[in-house]
Amino acid sequence: MAIQLVKGTKDIFGAEVGIWQEIENKIRTICKTFGIEEIRTPVFEFTELFIRGVGETTDIVQKEMYTFTDDGNRSLTLRPEGTAGVARAYIEHGMHNNAQPTKLYYISPTFRCENTQAGRQRQFHQFGVEMLGSYSAAQDAEAISVASVLLEEMGIHGVELRINSLGCPDCRSKYNKTLKNFIGENLEKLCPTCKERYEKNPLRVLDCKETACQKIIADAPSVLDCLDEECTAHFEKVKAILDEMNIAYTVDPKIVRGLDYYTRTVFEFVSDGLTVCGGGRYDGLIEECGGKPTGAVGFGLGLERLIMILEKQQSDLHVSPLKDIYIGSMGEQGFLKAQAFTFALRKKGILAECDTVERSVKAQMKYANKLGVKYSLIIGDSELELGKAELKTMETGEKQEIMLNQLEAFFNK
Ligand code: ATP
Ligand code: MG
Repeated sequence: MAIQLVKGTKDIFGAEVGIWQEIENKIRTICKTFGIEEIRTPVFEFTELFIRGVGETTDIVQKEMYTFTDDGNRSLTLRPEGTAGVARAYIEHGMHNNAQPTKLYYISPTFRCENTQAGRQRQFHQFGVEMLGSYSAAQDAEAISVASVLLEEMGIHGVELRINSLGCPDCRSKYNKTLKNFIGENLEKLCPTCKERYEKNPLRVLDCKETACQKIIADAPSVLDCLDEECTAHFEKVKAILDEMNIAYTVDPKIVRGLDYYTRTVFEFVSDGLTVCGGGRYDGLIEECGGKPTGAVGFGLGLERLIMILEKQQSDLHVSPLKDIYIGSMGEQGFLKAQAFTFALRKKGILAECDTVERSVKAQMKYANKLGVKYSLIIGDSELELGKAELKTMETGEKQEIMLNQLEAFFNK
């Protein structure tokens, strides 16, 4: 029996690759405009980095990591998110010595051992941005604006930006107490996981997707009421800058995000109930990973989810671009020359195709039609002798005579 791909993974090929490339190109162009440089960190890191960086009580660390031991008995883990690796690299290469902020992005495979379902894979891809070296609300707004521009430029509609603030560790512990009191009164009604969360990290209960838990959470006290003066001012400033930028948002005090490292601002972009992008400020992370205290903010945007939304909203996604010309051939000399003409045109950037299967002329034309080309011609002995051929416009069937040595000029005009 043929071996199949692993559950939760996907081959990306054919017309879909075109969509990926378009998105990746957009991302690279946008990041360039925003002065964000690419970083490529390894696919695996020491497990310890993710335990420290992502947080022991998170779903990711508790049940979603692909962890293995290598021949040196080291515990390694496939990247379950991108921020921890970037934080490690920032410290390791002393990037804080450069002019700040350091603005980095990545497009990379990410691995989580989750139950697979629509929009949830075990290997998926994230576009992530991390901006390190600033505590200012302007940095939060700049990060948010990158994701906002990308979603806008992809032409998707109905995406909602939701923002919240979790405050600094002091506000957070104050809120944890308030929340614990509230949850304590309803403990019996919560799911088993949330009963555990109640002990270790009550904030995570707000993130639970179980209907029973959500019902209770609906009346939970708001974290925004527990923010101190500075954290409130920071959140107000983020909102004011977003207002100035004309980026619409709603404040949702229930957003906590799945990772433990967030402080102050957290945000999500949601489309049809599906979170396509999540991020926030993580001022404690660099210190947690062994660096100096450093303000930082970032987000992760799931590319599969982005494509899911695009596919739902845009029916013409899979159209592949037309090739410029098919150079068909007849006879041995024609076949040889077709290869040479095609190669010469390709070197000039013209999308040329020819027969490499040794098909009949009729089959070649059928193939050219399937391929989708703007023009075609056939080279045989007489065309070679006269140095000219009939160029057919595929859409109209119209034919015009063309000198074979004028082909390149024809496409470049
Ligand atoms: P969710 O609540 O949907 O599980 P999350 O909080 O775990 O999301 P993050 O860790 O913030 O998500 O990751 C950022 C983005 O990566 C998500 O918004 C989503 O678009 C994407 N993502 C996360 N997990 C998966 C997955 N298993 N498959 C595909 N995309 C994913
Ligand atoms: Mg998750």
